[in-house]
Amino acid sequence: MLSAACLRVVFDLKMELSIAIQICRYFLRLEYRQKRSDKSQETIMLTDTDLQNLRRCVELATEALEAGDEPFGSVLVAADGTVLAEDRNRVGSGDPTRHPEFELARWAAANMTSEERAAATVYTSGEHCPMCAAAHGWVGLGRIVYASSSEQLAAWFTELGSAAPPVRALRIQEVVPGVQVEGPVAALAEQVHDLHQRFYHKYKQSRKEKGPDSSSL
Ligand SMILES: [Zn+2]
Repeated sequence: MLSAACLRVVFDLKMELSIAIQICRYFLRLEYRQKRSDKSQETIMLTDTDLQNLRRCVELATEALEAGDEPFGSVLVAADGTVLAEDRNRVGSGDPTRHPEFELARWAAANMTSEERAAATVYTSGEHCPMCAAAHGWVGLGRIVYASSSEQLAAWFTELGSAAPPVRALRIQEVVPGVQVEGPVAALAEQVHDLHQRFYHKYKQSRKEKGPDSSSL
């Protein structure tokens, strides 16, 4: 423990109290950061089936990108492993709520019993936004596994100089505290990062070709 070591040093050197407090604060902050870093690097236990479904989500996100849409894709899987439904982002249609996770929640409400929904898993290329997390919670769907987190997405948007979204990014558990959530998955998150970079550059190129007044993709 860094803080314990710090106290020992302070005691041994008979330091002035104010200096000792400052040194202790420094070590406590260091220890806190180390703990946070260790937590973020915890290994997530996923099965081969989980990874296969997540890879399909990245494929769907790629399809969205190639169709000129934002790169997000999701898959709904029953308790027995059957893929029930899948979708990709379709906000390019002009409806900003056409997120794949939202579509899957509505599909589940229309086609599954409450027991089936609770036992199902939703895989997705990017962590649910608050709208989709709320839909997931209201419909009573089960576990969520995502490739990249909302925190990562926000960092990528900042890095790319992209405009901040109108809805604040929240962790799924902040919206739906009871749901089991796993992610991110480093290797796949990097692929999703690449898709967002490609989308951003494609968007910029498109705007350049259409002229500075163009606000559409
Ligand atoms: Zn969403």
